[in-house]
Amino acid sequence: MFPFLHALPRSIYFLLLGVIVALGAPLGWWICSQFVAADDMQVAVYLYMAIGTTLTFGSFGFLMGHSQDLLYKLIEKDSLTILLNQKAFYRHMEAYHQIGLRYNDRIGVIMLDIDHFKQVNDQNNHLVGSDIIKQFGQILAVMTRETDIVARYGGDEFIIGIPRVDNPADAMTLAERIRSTIESRVFNSRGAKVQITISMGVVVSLCSSSNNVDQLVQEADQMLYKAKRNGRNRVEALVNVGDATPASAS
Ligand code: GH3
Ligand code: MG
Repeated sequence: MFPFLHALPRSIYFLLLGVIVALGAPLGWWICSQFVAADDMQVAVYLYMAIGTTLTFGSFGFLMGHSQDLLYKLIEKDSLTILLNQKAFYRHMEAYHQIGLRYNDRIGVIMLDIDHFKQVNDQNNHLVGSDIIKQFGQILAVMTRETDIVARYGGDEFIIGIPRVDNPADAMTLAERIRSTIESRVFNSRGAKVQITISMGVVVSLCSSSNNVDQLVQEADQMLYKAKRNGRNRVEALVNVGDATPASAS
């Protein structure tokens, strides 16, 4: 109705809203007082103040809390893919690592990077490239479980955190399933048909006081670079459940 109101900074918008509500209070009381007998006036004033103040402060409290919830969600999200961002990944994984320590669980990290993505940008354009990153993120979200932490680590690099890994082979199987799905997928964007491959580094480790999420991510990153060095479009893995056992697949 008043589009200019929405163009205002939020602080000014809510200030105006507060002023309108505050000015409405005496007007509201004047209307109410027309229906109140003189003898009941004092009780009516207290009732009006109690109800009016509670509703006004309650509504503003709700609006502020609601906007903080929204802000909090936005701070944790990557704006292109709507997946979690790197900071949120660490926050969630550190909680999983703590739970893993308590219950003697294994935890998994999969690091993924699109192969030769600069060429995708060069051969098409940046908008197509960004669209492929977005579609790729959606595929990862669909192929993983609710309890997995899927995040955009940055650029064309993504990360998946897996809590409570019963069998280290499960993490490898998931990585391999994602690799082959992406390899056979034709991405459609703005009239272009693009095929990509990805390289992945997997690490599965027993949660212990001598490791942490940072270390697991670094190890997954080293495995990812091994996959790149060994020819791309492949998975390299490190299983750290007592003694380290390297493995690989393509
Ligand atoms: P490699 O196989 O070694 O990974 O080669 P690469 O070309 O993929 O190289 P690298 O991963 O180092 O570079 C990623 C490129 O992805 C660089 C950057 O231009 C591009 N990129 C990162 N974020 C975005 C984005 O949001 N949109 C688009 N279109 N391109 C992006
Ligand atoms: Mg890349």
